[in-house]
Amino acid sequence: MKAKKKDIRALTKEQLRRFFEESGDKAFRGNQVYEWLWSKGAHSFEDMTNISKTTRQMLEDNFVINHIRVDQMQRSSDGTIKNAVRLHDGLIVESVLIPTPTRTTACVSSQVGCSLDCKFCATARLKRMRNLNPDEIYDQVVAIDNESRLYHNRPLSNIVFMGMGEPLMNYNNVLKAIDKITSSEGLGMSPKRITLSTSGVPKMIKKMADDEVRFKLAVSLHSAIDEVRTSIMPFNDTFPLSELKESLEYWYAKTKSRITYEYVVWDGINDRKEDINALLKFCSYVPCKVNLIEYNPIDDGEFQQASNKAIDNYIKALESRGFVVNVRRSRGKDIDAACGQLANKS
Ligand code: SAH
Repeated sequence: MKAKKKDIRALTKEQLRRFFEESGDKAFRGNQVYEWLWSKGAHSFEDMTNISKTTRQMLEDNFVINHIRVDQMQRSSDGTIKNAVRLHDGLIVESVLIPTPTRTTACVSSQVGCSLDCKFCATARLKRMRNLNPDEIYDQVVAIDNESRLYHNRPLSNIVFMGMGEPLMNYNNVLKAIDKITSSEGLGMSPKRITLSTSGVPKMIKKMADDEVRFKLAVSLHSAIDEVRTSIMPFNDTFPLSELKESLEYWYAKTKSRITYEYVVWDGINDRKEDINALLKFCSYVPCKVNLIEYNPIDDGEFQQASNKAIDNYIKALESRGFVVNVRRSRGKDIDAACGQLANKS
């Protein structure tokens, strides 16, 4: 039986150099191929035009490039683009390009489906099928960078890990992908333009702080009262707010990087005075800002966005205490590309 070919992008640059040396070629060839694979984003060995035909064939015999393929691209009336991305094993994830007058943001997925069970999120219904590899995360970013250049005449400026999946449940691969994205041998993006959004896994937030990561952290809070949060984000039972608070204090002490809390206000769920007071208290623990996100209905009508008045109450209370609060309008709703709507519908 023929041995299964290896995914060449699972090799580090050093391993690739060694491979060439051991095959009787020059280690330097490894650098050239590495450049093709990462900064030039080659989809096949054929593309590697400065590599000899014999060498390309040798690579072909030993390795595969498990490149993603954008199966379907949908464009919203507001300029948002949603990619349905097919992975080498046929599974699909989605990623989104979000343009504003000054930025282009890529919203990327970290898992196929999701390990968590947030009641208001469409992705949660897919269950977690598997983690994405570093190169599958990287490829989503490259695809969106290309689309940004093509349709908006500018490169990608920001990345948010707010697509499908919980990035802290696939931490090692997400970190490897970010290393590549920020490396001069990859896309050379500044880590300050990258935000990882998590539902809040305390142990992993501390790990990130210990690893001295330089990207930004956003936490999907949605409620600062355990009982309420558990009812909409059941894993809060395992990782209660007291532990989340402690991990965020640890994060801030180590990184000095302000945290963003993502928060949706729902009718009859977290629109009371005591919900606001609990958030004010939570915000006093570490320097932060609050993004109030518009709710994107996911069809069963269990959740409804609170009234403008209820949202105004939040804004007034936060501002009067000196906290920064932004109201985030949804983008790409007409193509199910908004927060919490990624569910491989098409
Ligand atoms: N698992 C990570 C990242 C993916 S979700 C996390 O939880 O942060 C990205 C953001 O979309 C989170 O803040 C999440 O709470 C929010 N979200 C999920 N479903 C939503 C919906 N239906 N409407 C608005 N925001 C939603």
